[in-house]
Amino acid sequence: MIDTESFRIGQGYDSHALVAGRPFFLGGVELPAEAGAMAHSDGDCLLHALIDAILGASARGDIGQWFPDSDPAFKGVASSELLATVLADPEVGRFRIVNLDATVFLDRPRLSPHRETLQASLCRLLGLEPGRVNLKAKTWEGMPWAAALVAASATVLLAPA
Ligand code: MG
Repeated sequence: MIDTESFRIGQGYDSHALVAGRPFFLGGVELPAEAGAMAHSDGDCLLHALIDAILGASARGDIGQWFPDSDPAFKGVASSELLATVLADPEVGRFRIVNLDATVFLDRPRLSPHRETLQASLCRLLGLEPGRVNLKAKTWEGMPWAAALVAASATVLLAPA
């Protein structure tokens, strides 16, 4: 019988301002873009939302506690490294990820040509098969900040490892 008490769900959200001329990272991939995130790290808001979802599900706090943006050690750091650090935590390691469902809010670049690349990157970073990782893309639907903001939300389900 499944012990449903041993499952954990977590959600994460992140957003970054977009600035012309900066590299644009999403889901562990650098995508061709005219603007990239203003951030202390590489500004990968999808991985930041994912990290917060994992930390939330395992009751381990939030990304700001783990990797303060006041710490020079994390300046320009690849968010995939931050994710690897979280996944290596013994308390987080008591669980395995059952599935990830994520949504990115972004006008440009359009994500449809990159969806498979991004999903493959998330699968690789998490060690999950494609059927456990879903990525959804939404535009800002004409909101006034559409060109200047990227945001992402992520939900994960964890089960005992
Ligand atoms: Mg962030």
